[in-house]
Amino acid sequence: MIRTDRTLADGRRIRYYDDGPEPRPRDRADPRDLAPTAAVTDIRHDPLTGEPVVIAAHRQDRTHKPAADHCPLCPGRPDAPGEIPEPHYDVVVFENRFPAFAGGQGRAEVVCFTDEHDTSFAELSPTRVRTVLDALADRTAELSGTDGVRQVFPFENRGEEIGVTLHHPHGQIYGYPFVPPRTARMLEHARARLTTHGTHPLGDLLAAERADGTRVVTRGRHWTAFVPPAARWPVQVLIVPHRRVADLSELTADERDDVAGVSLDVLRRCDALYDRPLPYVAGWHQAPAVGDREAAWLHLEVFSVRRAADKLKYLAGSESGMAVWVNDVTPERIAENLRDTRPGR
Ligand SMILES: [Zn+2]
Repeated sequence: MIRTDRTLADGRRIRYYDDGPEPRPRDRADPRDLAPTAAVTDIRHDPLTGEPVVIAAHRQDRTHKPAADHCPLCPGRPDAPGEIPEPHYDVVVFENRFPAFAGGQGRAEVVCFTDEHDTSFAELSPTRVRTVLDALADRTAELSGTDGVRQVFPFENRGEEIGVTLHHPHGQIYGYPFVPPRTARMLEHARARLTTHGTHPLGDLLAAERADGTRVVTRGRHWTAFVPPAARWPVQVLIVPHRRVADLSELTADERDDVAGVSLDVLRRCDALYDRPLPYVAGWHQAPAVGDREAAWLHLEVFSVRRAADKLKYLAGSESGMAVWVNDVTPERIAENLRDTRPGR
């Protein structure tokens, strides 16, 4: 992977991550006349629970489902310049023009996986997925050392059912200015188990799932993908490294190559489930930027709201109101379905 840093017309940073091995010239200037946006993020705390809520009113004006020939993530054309000035690219990361976090209160970046508009992450080559992982590891390391960032969360929202407003294959990297409640809860649980048993809950779970096999979807040399025993979503897979690492930046080259293959296998199985692209969220759970790193165990979580070919799972009263999930599909059946699919590639 070769990284080249440039600046967009309004001062935002854009970073090209090329597959390599040769460096590519990335000298095309941003032709747009763009004024810097005044994004102001207001972080409030629910007075009853103490949990953070992000108020980002400027995001109401963000680009919403543009026509394919006005996609801001496609390579720049003289008649329709987008966010990326170069006529071709491999992977790019740039600061979001409509960020959920800005102004010293965290960061929000966009990561484009390919310059091809009509494809998906699952259709990328293993080499390209490796470049994406290297880019995410690089961003994790840099953002973790940035003032005002407490937790780096790289994720992909895929599909209109998830609320995606741009179809070009891309993900996002949030640098939260606080440790999110879910991470805090996992760290607290891990700390307690480390104290009482001297083992990590995800290490224990991984060992149990690998030994039992009922919920295992696919195995690599360094990673195992399985449906968690208390899956909350009608499709949910954890992709877990056999060695405990705190975040993406700590993975070896072998581990990165292996998870490229395992994650492609999982996502292709997901798309084969219903013979149509599966809407999903894929997110990397990592250690906070500072502190509690020994209680964290990196993993990728993939889940979907699709519970049948023609049905979606909605977060209704129990889930939205009480954060108690009711799953209509057993985790064992989810794993069986994913194992039985024949990814057609
Ligand atoms: Zn596009």
